[in-house]
Amino acid sequence: MSFNDLGLSAELLRAVSEQGYTTPTPIQRQAIPLILEGRDVMAGAQTGTGKTAGFTLPLLQRLNDNPAPGGKRPVRALVLTPTRELAAQVGESVETYGRHLSLRSAVIFGGVKINPQIQKLRQGIDILVATPGRLLDHASQGTVDLSRVEILVLDEADRMLDMGFIHDIRKVLALLPQNEARQNLLFSATFSSEIKQLANRLLNQPELIEVARRNTTADKIAQVVHPVDRKRKRELLSHMIGSRNWRQVLVFTRTKHGANRLAQQLEKDGLSAAAIHGNKSQGARTRALAGFKQGDIRVLVATDIAARGLDIDQLPHVVNFELPNVPEDYVHRIGRTGRAGNEGEAVSLVCVDEEKLLRDIERLLKKKIPSQVLEGYEPDPAIKAEPIQNGRNGGGRNRARQGNGGRQQQAARRGNGNAQRAKPARQRSANARGRQKATLFGG
Ligand code: AMP
Repeated sequence: MSFNDLGLSAELLRAVSEQGYTTPTPIQRQAIPLILEGRDVMAGAQTGTGKTAGFTLPLLQRLNDNPAPGGKRPVRALVLTPTRELAAQVGESVETYGRHLSLRSAVIFGGVKINPQIQKLRQGIDILVATPGRLLDHASQGTVDLSRVEILVLDEADRMLDMGFIHDIRKVLALLPQNEARQNLLFSATFSSEIKQLANRLLNQPELIEVARRNTTADKIAQVVHPVDRKRKRELLSHMIGSRNWRQVLVFTRTKHGANRLAQQLEKDGLSAAAIHGNKSQGARTRALAGFKQGDIRVLVATDIAARGLDIDQLPHVVNFELPNVPEDYVHRIGRTGRAGNEGEAVSLVCVDEEKLLRDIERLLKKKIPSQVLEGYEPDPAIKAEPIQNGRNGGGRNRARQGNGGRQQQAARRGNGNAQRAKPARQRSANARGRQKATLFGG
């Protein structure tokens, strides 16, 4: 099947072929015709499957086919994303695929000045890509009007819920026309019961599309675990990068502090490295990412949330320097490699403290990840497991708050009865959240 068979207009086909894409990916094959028909869609697609073009192309076509009446352009399509990086990337896709159309788009997220965004919105925007917090800032200042949105996309909806955005999403929904008056598209890599409830509330008789089996990792990604002592991980990582001549590797740590420290240590080992996380300014994050994409920076060390939405073509190596506390994050992390059919490798350095985390991940994947002890790095059996320190918030399954204008909260806990939540930025108490859930999910 080629893109020509999907019902896309000549302008869009031209933009696609200029990108060098010849064959639609499975999610594109399934989603594009349905979205063109105006159906609501709930798609289970992990990152790297081509999902962005899967919703962007038909969205552009629908807006283009039904132009708004004269006067200032109202926002007719709204794409909500969990992170700035993902927003920027979706915005780029909208620009790229829409380059032969005369639709206007804008990207708004926190952590940067609001005034240029206000000016852009004033000009009239057809497609708005936004993170929830900054969008609500605009709404409260009256600088954005969402009452004429025809198409709503929730991208990486699972991550938005993990990051505690449910309250913000609910507020945004209240600013839109009724559900039935819009087309609603929900994309998520994983399907918790919370996601399903959100979908029930949001979508009208949706078509369900699932391209990769739920909570599984892309087949093309070779995964391996290297057991190693906690204090020797950095040495092993430097050794692997050097001896295997890895030119571009994305490394995950659990905490921002850990990311900074590791990047500094790798620099001392003579490897060009940068850390990317929510405490870095947007400028620093953008520079680090650009340096990494260009090959000036060999190792990018990232926390889970900061890495969300990073789209780096053909990223060959992902290393879990520390396993994530939340098993689903493993799926997200390794989805950074093996994108759109390329082969990739995901290596996890696992110390004795992390055995339970590994078991949880394997339970989620429903398979064992092959384990290989590397010569010279055999774990010392005398070393006992220690509780995992997880930044300033202590241990447990908490995730440190990161970025996005300070609005991303500690992750909601998943299936763990005793984890704490941070006091949210906008005075959202745990009780208030309970109420929100009752309203959004129960209603
Ligand atoms: P996404 O899952 O949307 O983040 O896309 C993952 C990567 O696949 C991006 O770098 C896209 O540019 C690329 N891509 C999307 N569609 C195609 C396609 N049909 N053929 C080849 N690459 C694609």
